[in-house]
Amino acid sequence: MALPLVYHPEYVTPLPPGHRFPMPKFGLVYEMLLAEGIVSTSTVHVPDSADRELLTLVHTEEYVDSILEGTIKPAALRRIGLPWSEGLARRTRRAVGGTLLTARLALEHGLACNTAGGTHHAHPSFGSGFCLFNDLAVAAAALLAEEAVRRILVVDLDVHQGDGTAAAFQADDRVFTFSMHCGSNFPFRKTPGDLDVALPEGLSDDEYLRELESILPDLVNPAVPEMAPDLVLYDAGVDVFAGDRLGRLNLTLEGITRRDRFVLETCLAADVPVAAVIGGGYDQDVSALADRHCILHRVAASLRPGRSRLRGLAQERPVP
Ligand SMILES: [Zn+2]
Repeated sequence: MALPLVYHPEYVTPLPPGHRFPMPKFGLVYEMLLAEGIVSTSTVHVPDSADRELLTLVHTEEYVDSILEGTIKPAALRRIGLPWSEGLARRTRRAVGGTLLTARLALEHGLACNTAGGTHHAHPSFGSGFCLFNDLAVAAAALLAEEAVRRILVVDLDVHQGDGTAAAFQADDRVFTFSMHCGSNFPFRKTPGDLDVALPEGLSDDEYLRELESILPDLVNPAVPEMAPDLVLYDAGVDVFAGDRLGRLNLTLEGITRRDRFVLETCLAADVPVAAVIGGGYDQDVSALADRHCILHRVAASLRPGRSRLRGLAQERPVP
């Protein structure tokens, strides 16, 4: 079966010319995956837009309304770093809906990918670092609320710490937040998650992979049932790349490929479904950047997940 892949044209909305956020990358990722046959226009999964009720599972009503209605204060907007527009509000709602759909597809098929997502700097009551609403947190909260899952593991390998996701679940032990990032990079004031690994600047492939290999298998180990997640949300940010404008690590394209393969294979070997989002990546050359993001989808498309653990769980549940 083809890799379940999620995209919506609203993922792209115009920004002022020269803005440093590489908005066109989302459309280019989809076009590249179409050209490579990893997705087709008839198989792509089209997400709903996240509504107010869904967003307020994580975010405060005041903050959600300020984005939906465009009444957000200039200082709060400066912290986000994007100019408000109706298109921007539409795009962030659609991307949140996209990650939720990706998570549902992962539960059904074992593995699924979004072509956006990873807005992990969005806190419950404010946005930050190009992130308005936290797609990872909202998707996790929605699936927990409807009891589709009991425990979720967030594997955040974007080069920046997942402070917003950590903040959303600090008092919730159903979500384990693991972030491995460059310690000296944004956000400079970290919000502690369940497991934070701050890497030194300039780390390269082998050292990075060694660190990841020493951590991840224990987090999905089915032999530890009180830890084992029913779903992994994977933020595959490519700002770990050596040439990234906002990253400070030194990974090669081959290193990113090895990383994504290791994460997906480790989770699938433990029979844990994975929903992956593309996360951060910054480059003047948007085509090269989009190509870098497609590593995730290429690796995912090459893997064949087995039976999802969750279907086993559903069968174990007593009939009400
Ligand atoms: Zn980042």
